[in-house]
Amino acid sequence: MYQTFIGLEVHIHLLTKTKVFCGCRSAFGDEPNTNVCPVCLGYPGVMPALNIEAMRMGCLVARALNCRIPEKTWFERKQYFYPDMPKNYQISQFASPLGQEGWVEIEGGGINKRVRIRECHLEEDAGKMIHTGAVSLLDYNRAGVSLLEIVTEPDMESGEEAELFVQQLRRAVRYLGVCDGNMEEGSLRADANVSINLPGRGLGSKVEIKNLNSSRFIRLGLNYEVKRQAAMLDAGKVVVQETRLWNENRDETAPMRTKENAKDYRYFPEPDLPAFTPDEAFLASVDAGLVELPLPRSKRVKADYGLNDEQAFLLCEEKAFADYYESAVNEACKLGLEKKDAAGRVANRLLTEVKHILSRENIDEAGIGTVKLSPRRLAELTALVAGGNISNKNAKQALEAVFAEDKDPAEIVKERGWEQINDPALIAGAVKQVWDAEAETVRSARAAIEADNQKKVKSLTAYLVGKVLAATGGRAAPEVAGRQVEALLRGTD
Ligand code: ADP
Ligand code: ZN
Ligand code: MG
Repeated sequence: MYQTFIGLEVHIHLLTKTKVFCGCRSAFGDEPNTNVCPVCLGYPGVMPALNIEAMRMGCLVARALNCRIPEKTWFERKQYFYPDMPKNYQISQFASPLGQEGWVEIEGGGINKRVRIRECHLEEDAGKMIHTGAVSLLDYNRAGVSLLEIVTEPDMESGEEAELFVQQLRRAVRYLGVCDGNMEEGSLRADANVSINLPGRGLGSKVEIKNLNSSRFIRLGLNYEVKRQAAMLDAGKVVVQETRLWNENRDETAPMRTKENAKDYRYFPEPDLPAFTPDEAFLASVDAGLVELPLPRSKRVKADYGLNDEQAFLLCEEKAFADYYESAVNEACKLGLEKKDAAGRVANRLLTEVKHILSRENIDEAGIGTVKLSPRRLAELTALVAGGNISNKNAKQALEAVFAEDKDPAEIVKERGWEQINDPALIAGAVKQVWDAEAETVRSARAAIEADNQKKVKSLTAYLVGKVLAATGGRAAPEVAGRQVEALLRGTD
């Protein structure tokens, strides 16, 4: 068996309004070559200027990954030729990355380990080449967009661990509000480095899989590569250091080029940008952006509210969703519900009915804070059900109505006459009605009781209770109706 070493280089587009070294709009999907200026088009003699917001967001990610922010950080030119990069160099960071020597815990699906972060550095993205038949088109809208590169140590050992790392990082940067995490649009993409070696021999000869734009491809590509390399070593061959690409149609990696090293880039300090020295005010503005991250939050939410792993995970995937949940539980407690009872009830309704409505209405989970069903209103509805004021069935309809009509649940319930009927005498009236209309069923149910046919008794009882509920417009308290039907069938009332 071999030992596996995996290190990732993850690139995230920072959500700055403008690019990192000029004032051009930073946006995805605009008309090609409309967000450009002499600076990002690389005209000779123009001067770049650092976008402080990009520096702040980069440092925020660095802090969230437990990195050290150095006293002074500057930029270098990384030189290579490529048509999507008109200056023939990329402004990046080499000797003084803005974040250094951090770590992150990854946890889930049986995995639980610490991955060291080597560095986070700020750079500019390149433009985009679109190849169509005989011609290649260039779109420089992306040239100069703020890009943060996060580099790990080779601490991961399987495609699954790398996938988990990226999924967790994606959720974290969305929580921090610095990246939309959209992998299809390329806002988050990764290069995956992998080598294997005999145990105890240290790192092997590294292969880099470039430009992976889905966490699934990261897992598949790495696991494929581990197998390929093992087969080579088994056959007594050597693995050459190279860059490969994942071919998603063939489920395999293929060689792209042998990799250049730092020496080939001839990094040297960018003379047009002064070094950046974070002062106290800047560092305070970075720290002001720190929030409880998804993993610790889901652990806390699980313990605090008595939920299971899956509920906690789903509730905490999106920050806005988790905020909404905690606020609704809090409101329900104010309305007199016991905390764990409120927590369970709100979680259930959020993860089923509310999620269902959101997806039907095409509302992103992140947008839950803007819907007419406010946390307070969800709490009110929960309290109405818990207090036996409305049946669960009508509660579902009430939820829909609150969503659509911008009214409080109590108002909807009153308007529609959905208050639950708990009065046994009123329910007895409905039972009597059903008894007259369903004489045949009642006879069969009694015969089934005689014959001790439990299954049939159960289904016929449920049928009769359903009829009673229907006769009251779904308003009768189901337990009361159930007790009365039971008693009447068995002649015990
Ligand atoms: P390069 O100079 O080729 O970019 P780096 O040393 O900067 O290589 O490392 C890039 C990434 O590759 C890092 O995430 C690092 O952890 C990982 N890495 C480096 N060497 C190996 C190796 N031998 N096996 C697996 N991963 C490696
Ligand atoms: Zn520009
Ligand atoms: Mg490198």
